[in-house]
Amino acid sequence: MKEVRAFACSWGCRRNVLTSKKRMAEHEERCFHNPKNRACQTCMFLAKTTETVYDPYHGGDPGSSDYEAEIEYCEVGIGIKEQYKNNCLVWEARQ
Ligand SMILES: [Zn+2]
Repeated sequence: MKEVRAFACSWGCRRNVLTSKKRMAEHEERCFHNPKNRACQTCMFLAKTTETVYDPYHGGDPGSSDYEAEIEYCEVGIGIKEQYKNNCLVWEARQ
C-alpha cells in the first residue's frame, strides 16, 4: 500500500479530493461555493421548499406513493431551474 498526498476544496463543497494541488487550486477558483463566483450556493436568496411528486404508478391506490421532494429555488426568481447559476447580478452574500 502506498500513501498519497491529496487536497480537498477549502470552500467546503465536499468535492472529492484531488491528488494534484494545481488542479484543486483551479477547482477552488471556479467552485460555486467560492463567494467570488456569486453563485446560488453562497447567496442569501437561495431558499428551500418541498414539492409533492405525484407518482402515476400508484398500483391502484392514487396518492399512496406520492412523496415530498426537497427543492431549492431563488427567492428573486431569476436563478435556478435545472442548474445553479453563477455570476448572478442580484447575488448577495449569505450571512
Ligand atoms: Zn469546491
